[in-house]
Amino acid sequence: MLYGSIEAGGTKFVCAIGNEKLEILERVSYPTTTPAETMALVIEFFNQYKEELVSIGIGSFGPIDIRPTSETYGFITSTPKLAWQNYNFLGAMKEAFDVPMAWTTDVNAAAYGEYAYGHGKDLSSVVYYTIGTGVGAGAIQNGQFIEGFSHPEMGHVLVVPHEDDDFAGSCPFHGNCLEGMAAGPAIEKRTGRKGQDIPEDDAFWAIEAEYIAQCAYNTTLMFAPEVIIFGGGVMKQRHMMEKVHAAFERLMKGYVATPPLAQYIVTPALEDNAGTIGCLALAQKAKADA
Ligand code: ADP
Ligand code: ZN
Repeated sequence: MLYGSIEAGGTKFVCAIGNEKLEILERVSYPTTTPAETMALVIEFFNQYKEELVSIGIGSFGPIDIRPTSETYGFITSTPKLAWQNYNFLGAMKEAFDVPMAWTTDVNAAAYGEYAYGHGKDLSSVVYYTIGTGVGAGAIQNGQFIEGFSHPEMGHVLVVPHEDDDFAGSCPFHGNCLEGMAAGPAIEKRTGRKGQDIPEDDAFWAIEAEYIAQCAYNTTLMFAPEVIIFGGGVMKQRHMMEKVHAAFERLMKGYVATPPLAQYIVTPALEDNAGTIGCLALAQKAKADA
């Protein structure tokens, strides 16, 4: 029995095959171009395993329609990536493969990976953020994604500008939301440098850490999860965590007694594999539930 994983991102699709222990047996990556091109490659990849493939977990960039009763369930909806607007992603996969499929957001999938096999392994609640090209988030309680009429968009919560930051924010919708202030493109627009090219001792990292701490503060007050995980390219700056913890304490002023910060506000235990492991775990669950 093999499980399939699709992490569908705005720049690349990562497809993988896992065994029953959720060990990754093969992983490939295709650029996100048009549905016709990209999906042909995805389908070709899984076709190699058609005999043994029992289910597929899909974590997609969005916004996506996750309401099973909706006419456009399984679609990517109002994405700025025009070729993918109103694209029936799940439908295309179902047409090609007659197996149970899990369908959720890319960041929910990564959150599920951490929940099932990472920092959330022995816990019942996690909130996971990715700080990369955008900021996305997923929240899980007792194995269920927290959602309502749609999936949450916690990456767009408003943040209070740091006193040394005169950047207006780069989100086309909200300006100074978390994504507009703290995602990779906001860093580049503000400093003229990509995050990976800014030295560790640069004063900018205190500003970035402040926004991440505000996010952790809001998350604590809204959900009181057992752990808050920050992943994505920008969090490769591991030295920032210390600053995030200090800023969080300063904001919280002891109001809520959280778990010790070193275990409460963390980077992903599964590192860059959270999404793939999450999709495989969701595939396994889809098979079990079918
Ligand atoms: P995506 O969000 O597209 O899936 P990533 O999570 O890798 O991919 O995020 C890409 C963003 O992260 C880019 O804006 C990039 O500049 C930034 N980034 C990548 N590596 C680092 C790093 N080591 N330090 C800071 N920022 C980084
Ligand atoms: Zn926004």
